[in-house]
Amino acid sequence: MHRATKIVATIGPASSTQDILLQMIQAGADVVRLNFSHGTADDHRQRAEFVREAARQAGREVGIMADLQGPKIRVGKFENGKTTLVAGNTFILDAECELGNDDRVGLDYKDLPRDLKPGDTLLLNDGLIVLSVARVIGNEIHTVVKIGGDLSNNKGINRQGGGLTAPALTAKDMEDIRTAMSLGADYVAVSFPKNATDMEMARQLANIAGAPYGIKPKMIAKIERAEAIPALQGILDASDGIMVARGDLAVEVGNAAVPALQKRMIKMARDANKFVITATQMMESMIHAPVPTRAEVSDVANAVLDGTDAVMLSAESAAGKYPVQTIETMAAICVEAEKSEHVELDKDFLDRTFTRIDQSIAMGALFTAYHLGAKAIVALTESGSTALWMSRHWTHVPIFALTPRTGSERAMAIYRNVTSLHLDTSSDRDIALAQALEVVVGKGYAARGDMVVLTVGEPMGQAGGTNTLKIVRVGEPV
Ligand code: PGA
Ligand code: MN
Repeated sequence: MHRATKIVATIGPASSTQDILLQMIQAGADVVRLNFSHGTADDHRQRAEFVREAARQAGREVGIMADLQGPKIRVGKFENGKTTLVAGNTFILDAECELGNDDRVGLDYKDLPRDLKPGDTLLLNDGLIVLSVARVIGNEIHTVVKIGGDLSNNKGINRQGGGLTAPALTAKDMEDIRTAMSLGADYVAVSFPKNATDMEMARQLANIAGAPYGIKPKMIAKIERAEAIPALQGILDASDGIMVARGDLAVEVGNAAVPALQKRMIKMARDANKFVITATQMMESMIHAPVPTRAEVSDVANAVLDGTDAVMLSAESAAGKYPVQTIETMAAICVEAEKSEHVELDKDFLDRTFTRIDQSIAMGALFTAYHLGAKAIVALTESGSTALWMSRHWTHVPIFALTPRTGSERAMAIYRNVTSLHLDTSSDRDIALAQALEVVVGKGYAARGDMVVLTVGEPMGQAGGTNTLKIVRVGEPV
């Protein structure tokens, strides 16, 4: 069954053997996410090796995403591992405190007291605990507990409304970028960026670290800070894709604001020719149960209908009991939702103008395929740009992107409605087109008599070189 929406699966203790990874890839994982908030460099290196080997066994390329921890602000550790906060009591966050107790706890971000003023609301442990700032005295933040509960070692802190000044890239992130490039990551996800500059800096570091390995990773901005919302257009321009990071975002802007923001972000990303991932708690109950809730099924389906490129699994596949079943279930929901997806070329399609030849050919191919009722679009691409542009529109014509570059094949694994495949370089255009068609027909994606629209660049082998559009009927000479 053809599925257009892609699945990103976080890997962790529940998914670190080659056998489980193979089953996860066979079940439909298109990209795996290494979460650098957990585990050592060696864990990630080992997992990346297993993923590459499992993908080889499965016979298709899978993308690897390195997700940086970023400046998540956390409380320190407690003498007894935790304390219990009671509503109405006072509690102190103390930048100088080494080991916490029932009165106070330390902070990993020593400048936090300088960012706060009386009346601010702090949300701890993903919003389960709420503290109100009474006053700031030197390095101590004196708070009143509004909603209590157990607070254990290293839980996260967010300020309602955002506005904490911690820099987007920590020293650990910089080290992790180097690790990610050395293990061949295809995407780098940056946590808590506030603006385009944060993304530009991360890209520069990643390109420098990737150079010895010949990697220029795709840069993903995780939108999870209140400040990132007004800065979204600039962040999109500076990134290759974004993640609707609903976990932290919900804590900063409030749960209720997230669904509408998700729709707006997905639309803005597509309009900007960028890809978008919808993340967090999509199949949360499947961490423990073999079936999802009705609400989770609707959530995944609605993200598909919003136009997301990919849906993401976090703990479900990293630490849950049913990593493989979760992916199977998610894949089935996507396929079913796609059947009811609306299909149309956007109203302003006819008014658009382009300065690039390759982009004009891509849009011409899409327009032609849509109106001709072609069975497939086959794009011979070096960088993957033509496939990305075509996949930003709601035409529903499957796009097969063939490339000699393994890096491009893996990068395209996340684009909605794009199936990326390998094709060796040929210097002769007609031979290449015939071979491309053979691959697509051989895999059963098109059959004799089907109309197929092909795009290619001549001379061959140049990124950005697409300049030709050809329409063929399968079975007749190319
Ligand atoms: P995280 O990011 O899983 O790294 O926290 C995703 C989110 O906040 O939703
Ligand atoms: Mn987050």
